[in-house]
Amino acid sequence: METTLILFKPDALHRGLVGRILARFEDKGLQLAGLRLLRMSPEMAAKHYAEHLGKPFYGGLVGFMTSSPIVAMALRGPQAVGVARRLMGKTFGIDAEPGTLRGDFGCSKSFNLLHGSDSAESAERELALFFPDGLEDWEGIQAPWLWDAE
Ligand code: UDP
Ligand code: MG
Repeated sequence: METTLILFKPDALHRGLVGRILARFEDKGLQLAGLRLLRMSPEMAAKHYAEHLGKPFYGGLVGFMTSSPIVAMALRGPQAVGVARRLMGKTFGIDAEPGTLRGDFGCSKSFNLLHGSDSAESAERELALFFPDGLEDWEGIQAPWLWDAE
């Protein structure tokens, strides 16, 4: 079983899309293991986006992510990292396929509603940053019907 970090970016909160998007992850069969409303500090943003330091969009990205509250969510399920990324769709709303979250809810390049960890290693590092006290360890009663026995 894998756990991934999803961030609802400021545009998702301003546009009132958190509930509808969260429901799509639940519909898919991923289970909540952590949920927080918070404001990302510039220090957190620098750690979270360290891989993008020096890129042309870095300043705008950090400014955007620290401009308003965000929601951090830990989701658990089989191959949760890849499943969540495919559900989100391509990085830019204009490129993302219909049926994906970024494809259905936006057509901006900079404001793309969501962050999702891109590997199990990134997920571990990012979850520790946003959920320093750890995650809730539980299994929903639907899990045997949603997840294959491993
Ligand atoms: N981003 C941007 N312009 C770009 C590339 C990326 O504004 O040309 C932003 C966008 O918000 C994206 C984030 O930087 O989600 C991180 O980029 P990455 O390539 O890691 O995309 P993701 O993993 O979010 O699909
Ligand atoms: Mg990324």
